[in-house]
Amino acid sequence: MSKVIKLSILILISSIFLWQVSKNEKYQVLGKLIDRVETSEKIVALIFDDGPTKGKTKEILTILDEAEVKATFYLIGKSIEKNIQETKNIIDRGHEIGNHSYTHKRMILKSYNFVEEELEKTNELITQAGYKGAISFRPPYGKKLFILPYYLITLTVMI
Ligand SMILES: [Zn+2]
Repeated sequence: MSKVIKLSILILISSIFLWQVSKNEKYQVLGKLIDRVETSEKIVALIFDDGPTKGKTKEILTILDEAEVKATFYLIGKSIEKNIQETKNIIDRGHEIGNHSYTHKRMILKSYNFVEEELEKTNELITQAGYKGAISFRPPYGKKLFILPYYLITLTVMI
């Protein structure tokens, strides 16, 4: 087998492996991934991604109010800018807010600066809207590889 074919096969296998690692919900290269919380209670965590959205957020909040249920909303920075009142409504109703990036782009094969800007800009918008709680992060499409976990580790160390 020629060296070019061997190298091509190696690159293909490596790419498949890294793709699987990037979308694994139980493992990441650096830092801790929280996919569950140990409890003896029978509970379910409700998470709504990709908002806030005009109309839909109001509808969800009404349903949650009627059921007297709290949820976590992972918001996109750009959507917060367009729907600031919906963001404030989520906060006023006592729900938890998390960061779901600024543009909702996949967080793999991106620079440290890109990741930093996506997270910090959105954290700032969430805080400006009046949210006082800790802000967790959920990557768009669940994608993470090296830079995102590394950024999160350095952030945790800085706090
Ligand atoms: Zn999403």
